[in-house]
Amino acid sequence: MTAQLIDGNALARTVRAEVAGRVAALQQRGITPRLTVFLVGDNPASQVYVRNKVADSEQTGLAATLERYPAALPQAELLARIRALNADARVHGILVQLPLPVHLDAQAVIETIAPEKDVDGFHVASAGALMVGRPGFRPCTPYGCMKMIESIGYGLKGKHAVVIGRSNIVGKPMALMLLAQNATVTVCHSATRDLARHTREADVIVAAVGKRNVLTADMVKPGALIIDVGMNRDDAGKLCGDVDFAGVSQVAGWITPVPGGVGPMTRAMLLVNTIEAAEAAAS
Ligand code: NAP
Repeated sequence: MTAQLIDGNALARTVRAEVAGRVAALQQRGITPRLTVFLVGDNPASQVYVRNKVADSEQTGLAATLERYPAALPQAELLARIRALNADARVHGILVQLPLPVHLDAQAVIETIAPEKDVDGFHVASAGALMVGRPGFRPCTPYGCMKMIESIGYGLKGKHAVVIGRSNIVGKPMALMLLAQNATVTVCHSATRDLARHTREADVIVAAVGKRNVLTADMVKPGALIIDVGMNRDDAGKLCGDVDFAGVSQVAGWITPVPGGVGPMTRAMLLVNTIEAAEAAAS
């Protein structure tokens, strides 16, 4: 392997320690930062995610409450509960775990969260703030990717970044964050013709597709920085990313592993957003 590994677990530990210090500082002022996580239904993956979010929060001293509801929860009841928490000064961050059961309008639910408590950064107010370069909560996954790039001292100015994927939670905000750092950004998606033609030109590639081996060694310029957001299972059922790690790590300059890369950083950035929400409320 020629590429240097960007260790998401190690960086996430550093971020969590920094958050824990900020939590302690607020607690000294008599304020307990608090996150409330909503889980509607019993999606097995979502159950694991919310458990991790609560455990991560508690580990840093943040108070975290999980509110669980049956899949049949009427939308009006969910919105009423979110509005009650919007008005509750003890709660600084509100997160609704996605996906929601199909009868619930996920966007309407997210829009009900007060923007100042939108620690997932999915509210249109947060998306708009990112779009126009104003302060606001950044979606945790691309925010974590940016921290990983920053951690190796990589200067994005003038670099060509290719983002593969254009979802509202990863690809699009990722592209905007790279643009804000003066990279020249290309966004690729399922209708992109000749993906490899774009990626071979790239200094930085962020793969956020959800398909194994979307990026292989022949598609990568030697020395490129590779961020693998994807979460997939290989034939043996093991977690893997979108990138052919074995091949690409022979060509790239830096690479994030899966597991142990973007995943832990995504979790850590939720804590950062939550402490920021609490600090802003306390200021
Ligand atoms: P998504 O909403 O399904 O979006 C996937 C994107 O990939 C879409 O924009 C799609 O294009 C594009 N795409 C699909 N096939 C493609 C192809 N062959 N070539 C180029 N682009 C293609 O997924 P997401 O929510 O952004 O998540 C992406 C991946 O990241 C998933 O594996 C997810 O599990 C993972 N993820 C990981 C974390 C973490 O913490 N590690 C967090 C979030 C997501 P169209 O728009 O044209 O359909």
